[in-house]
Amino acid sequence: MSEQTKNAFFSGLQQNLDQLREQGLYKPERVLASRQGAEVVGNDGRTLINMCANNYLGLSGEQWVAQASIEATEKYGYGLSSVRFICGTQTVHKELEQAISTFLGTEDTILYAAAFDANGGLFEPLFDENDAIISDALNHASIIDGIRLCKAARYRYAHNDMADLEAQLQAAAGKRHKVIVTDGVFSMDGTIAQLDKICDLADKYGALVMIDECHASGFMGATGRGTHEHHNVMGRIDIITGTLGKALGGAMGGFTSARKEVIDMLRQKSRPYLFSNTLAPSIAGASLAVLKKLSTSTELRDRLHENTAYFRAEIERIGFTIKPGTHPVVPVMLFEAPVAQKFAARMYELGVLLSGFFYPVVPMGQARVRVQLSAAHTRAQLETVLKAFEQAGHELGLLSK
Ligand SMILES: *Cc1c(COP(=O)(O)O)cnc(C)c1O
Repeated sequence: MSEQTKNAFFSGLQQNLDQLREQGLYKPERVLASRQGAEVVGNDGRTLINMCANNYLGLSGEQWVAQASIEATEKYGYGLSSVRFICGTQTVHKELEQAISTFLGTEDTILYAAAFDANGGLFEPLFDENDAIISDALNHASIIDGIRLCKAARYRYAHNDMADLEAQLQAAAGKRHKVIVTDGVFSMDGTIAQLDKICDLADKYGALVMIDECHASGFMGATGRGTHEHHNVMGRIDIITGTLGKALGGAMGGFTSARKEVIDMLRQKSRPYLFSNTLAPSIAGASLAVLKKLSTSTELRDRLHENTAYFRAEIERIGFTIKPGTHPVVPVMLFEAPVAQKFAARMYELGVLLSGFFYPVVPMGQARVRVQLSAAHTRAQLETVLKAFEQAGHELGLLSK
């Protein structure tokens, strides 16, 4: 009986997995045999130009970043075997928190093992059933999960729709505290949240503003501080979450940065902080080295934006349709799911690593390949990628010229 029940569980899982495969929704993992970088080597030995990492500043595989992590390991050891508040806080963690606050223009910062945890542990300690959370419909999964863990009333506004945001603020009028929550940049389209307008609405309705800067910290804005710098609202954002696992080095780790009262309360009550291990000192040390470099030079950020502008102009000149914008996420629209799949497969054969996205990850009829530029890409590599786009586009009958 119990054996049978158990077997039914496992065979049920297998059926669901088979169904995912049939629907084309099963996600295989690509295995790399090299460091992350502008070029990677697959486990089949092939070298590919990588156009699908969140390695915006090209730091993931950089030797000086690896060296900084080695030096931190030598000084502080491999790990802490503790949460922060028992015996897991080292000077390097305090220095990193200070450096992030200075970089973002905030008062204080708390580190997490991941931005997923920063978002997951943000709302419940700060807001309760008297409060309202007003969230963009396309916010990241970790924000959605974090909001679910909190008792506050939930209001959802249509993606990037300021009229609907205002309507939701009005609907939440009776609530004690209100907080508007948005990704600074939305990673599927490279859409930049309208933080200037959002801050004006927040002022008008007495709401706080929280932004998730995972696709912005380190390179958006004139000196790379993020979307708040890009929109000239530094000092008007109340809470910023972000990752150390994308532009800022690419290992892992996350943070929340805000007024000191907010951070103090999160240190007391945020469950992923209280009940999960300290960020490894190797990551804290390397992240600190990255922030030092980014605070003294905009070279990498500038190169990333030059590469982005070049690629965006050239891919349109060839005849592809892209979502307009300025962010290094460039969605090249292919519309039909099978076309996006075939296109990504052909690009792989031509030596370019890309990811295709289709329903239900993006709306029906909006299938695409998503290109992500990096400061590490050379002009020659981008020319090779553009030639491959042109060839694959002609082969699949997508280009008229
Ligand atoms: C990647 C991402 C996260 C999660 O970051 P991790 O540090 O990898 O957990 C959270 N929010 C957004 C918007 C992201 O893009």
